[in-house]
Formats: sequence, C-alpha cells, structure tokens
Amino acid sequence: MLGRRVADPLARRRSGARARCELAVLVVLHSLLETIVAIASPPGGAARGILRLSGPDLRACLEEVFEAGDRRALSEISEATVVAGSLRLSGTAPLPCDLYWWPGPRSYTGQAMAEIHTFGCPPLLEAALQALCRAGARLAEPGEFTLRAFLSGRLDLTQAEAVLGIVDAAGPESFDVALEQLAGGLGSRLHRVRDALLDLLAELEAGFDFADEDLAFISQKQLMRQLAEAAETVAKLARQMDSRRLATERVRAVLAGWPNVGKSSLFNALAGKMGALVSDHPGTTRDYLTAELELDGATCLLIDTAGVEPGPAGADRPVRLAAQAAALEQSRQADVEVFCLDSTRAVNAWERARLAQDRAGRLLVLTKVDLPQRTDFSGGAVRTSSVTGEGLDALRARLREAVVTAGTAGLDVVPNTAVRCHESLRLSAESLERARQLVGTDGGEELVAAEIRVALEALGKVVGAVYTDDILDRIFSRFCIGK
Ligand code: GDP
Repeated sequence: MLGRRVADPLARRRSGARARCELAVLVVLHSLLETIVAIASPPGGAARGILRLSGPDLRACLEEVFEAGDRRALSEISEATVVAGSLRLSGTAPLPCDLYWWPGPRSYTGQAMAEIHTFGCPPLLEAALQALCRAGARLAEPGEFTLRAFLSGRLDLTQAEAVLGIVDAAGPESFDVALEQLAGGLGSRLHRVRDALLDLLAELEAGFDFADEDLAFISQKQLMRQLAEAAETVAKLARQMDSRRLATERVRAVLAGWPNVGKSSLFNALAGKMGALVSDHPGTTRDYLTAELELDGATCLLIDTAGVEPGPAGADRPVRLAAQAAALEQSRQADVEVFCLDSTRAVNAWERARLAQDRAGRLLVLTKVDLPQRTDFSGGAVRTSSVTGEGLDALRARLREAVVTAGTAGLDVVPNTAVRCHESLRLSAESLERARQLVGTDGGEELVAAEIRVALEALGKVVGAVYTDDILDRIFSRFCIGK
C-alpha cells in the first residue's frame, strides 16, 4: 500500500528541508491528492445512510452532484457547516440530504471533508456513490480516512488504533479505554518523554560541536537526572505493555462441539501440522491436544478436546467419560471458545442447549462448508472448510481479536496497541538504561547519544513518528471501509 520509509527521528530538527522533501514523496505515494468516498453507515437498510468523502478537490466533486437548498455555493462556506440540499442522481428525482461540510484543514483527515446524510436505502446509496465517483472521487480503501488523519498529523498511531478500538469495543469498559487513548492519554505521555529526550540529545550534540573549547551544554548531573526520568517513564510503560502481551500469551482457546463436527480437522488446519487424530468415528479425540498458535503478533494456546457424546455402554465407556469430563473442564477454563457446528446437518438438542447459554469469548464456526449444506443454524458464524481452506483466514482474524481482547481485559490501553508497542518500548527502555550506565561509568557522551537515538527511534515507532509501510499496513488493514 505504501512506499517504504523509515524516517530519522531527528529529521525535523536537523533538516526541515529534508523532512519536507520526504513528505512530498509521501504525498504522491499515498495518493493524498485523490478524493475518496465510501459508504460509512453499516450495511443493510436503515433510517439514515451516510457517505463519507475526503480530498483536496472535494468541493469540485460535490458541486457536480450536490445542490444546496438555499443555492449557496460551497466556496462561500469557510467554516464547518451543515447544509440542507439534494443530490442529483441520474434516473431519479433529486434525493434530499444533509451535507456536513468541513472545508479543511480542521477536519478529521486534515483535508476538505464531507458527509452526506440521506435515506439508508442501499440502492440509493450505491447510486450516490457512483455519481460521486463519476464526479471525480474514487472508492476509499479500508481505514483510508484514518490513514489520512495520521499522515496529516491529526492523529498519532496510538490514536489511530484507538479509533479501531472504539469501533470494536466489546463493552463500556473497552469503549472508555479506547476513548481515553483517542483523546491522547497514551500518546501525550509518549510525546512528552520523546520531546525531553530530543532536547537532551540536542544539548549533547551541541556539546560535540564545541568539544575543542571544552564547553559543556549540560552537566553530568543533569544528564543523569533527565535520563533517569525518561528511563523510568519508558520502563513503566514497557512493563505495563509487557504484562498485557504476556497475558495474551497465556490465553487459552478451545475447540468445542459435538463429536465429528470437524474440530480436529480445524485444529490441524489452524496449527498447520497433523497433530490431532482425525477420524470418521465419533469421539476419536480421547484426550486433548494443544498447539501454540501465532496470530499476527498475538499468541494463544489452541486446545482440541474430545467430543462430548456419552455414547453407548461398552468396555471403553469409562475412558470416554473421563475424556468428556476433561473436555468440559478445558472448555470451562478457556478464555475463548471456538464452538463448532457441522453445516451438513441440523443443530442437535445438546448444541441448542449450549448455544442458549451465555458465554463470554465464544466464536461460532460452521464447519464443512465444502459439502452439501443442511444446517438450520441462522445466527452469525465464520463459515469454514478444513478441506478447501475456505474461511480459515477469517477465522484466524476473528480468533486474534478474541485472544487479544481476552488477554488484555481490564487494562487501560487498546489491545492492538499493547501488542504492537511492547517490543519497541522494551528496546527503548533498554537503551535508556544502557545510556544511564554509560554516564555513570564515564563511557563517553557519543555512546550516550547513540543510545538515546536508538531509544528515540523505538519510541517514534510507537507513536508513528517513525514508521514503515509494514507497520501502517498492519494497523490500517484491520479497519473497515469508510473509517
Ligand atoms: P471431531 O470429532 O470434531 O474432531 O471431527 P474430525 O475433525 O475428526 O472430523 C470428522 C470427519 O469429518 C472426518 O472424516 C473429517 O475428514 C471430516 N471433515 C472435517 N472437516 C471437514 C471439512 O471441512 N470438509 C469435509 N469435506 N470433511 C471434513
């Protein structure tokens, strides 16, 4: 999606011209000059539908499609305003709408931006989308509005992730956490410590320029104190994030369901090895198997349990019963339950009873979708086939979200931020500690400066002052279109 770029954290201070030149390249690379449009309201019919647009030439695009009720031209409006009017669509009567107009740059994306609020009728919204595309806009990529907000400096990366945290919030607690992060709670702590380190580095480097004249811009004592303050703040943040990440590593996700629904096959498909025994004979998985699952930066222990069918009396019934008891216990202890339903048959009474029970962290999966479908299950579920691989990526993505949410419950940072930032904060904390030791042992100010640079680069990655296309891809690809 993006051209590779790793910015020097000191670029802004050292060379404004170079930073501006890099920005110019970015502007081209990220097609910031194009006008983008997307339906921003949820899919399906509703009382109100919303189209969102952004781009420097947005006014020209809107003027071809939108007519203000009072015949005002958008060029006359310099403040954020709501204008009642209508859309001219081919083949239909003018469509009444409200235009929310932000001429920019004080908008979410930092550019001219608009929202068209009209009837939430999908064919009408599609027609409006097409009319706006004919007038010069193009369809927005997932997360592109928030990416623009980041590139224009309106949000840092922790805030961009908070936007996603708000969209995905599972309840009032996670909503509050995301809101606090969006307001800059985490970002401002990081920016403060980064600014302090940049000042410290500038003073050290000024000293190097006057080394012959024996001029010190900062005393040994001041240097030690400021490094200690920064190291303490970063180490504290790193510890917090670390405990969060460790928490996700302990998350247990269990595959649960009636015998023969395809749990072991799914286990093998997800774990990528033939670990579980797959059989046509119900209840083959007698004990349970585990596999460490890596899910794009988060990890969990995936557990395949025995089926739960009591079965007829027989010599192996005690073994079956013991395995079933173990399976139920695994399911109860797990943070995430991947509950599997066989799509080739109707839901049975046991499954119905389980579905009726509330369970936090449950993901519903329909298995064997490559076979003729006879399920009567009508709820939402990820549709998978272990044979063709269909739906496995979607399941991995849903599992990742569930694992991250379960592993970071009750903590005060959006889970995705915690997982992404843990490594950078640890690196930064270690460099600052080394810098402190160097000052203590008179190890030379050049080496101290080098350690501070490493710490700054790592901190820059957390807030997004230093970034690569990988980081941006990873963050913004999780957004939906229109955000
Ligand atoms: P478990 O008892 O729930 O662990 O079920 P298994 O994974 O052992 O699968 C039971 C049977 O269903 C085996 O014959 C599998 O080969 C078959 N099966 C499992 N998943 C699929 C699938 O996605 N497609 C097809 N066609 N068969 C599947």
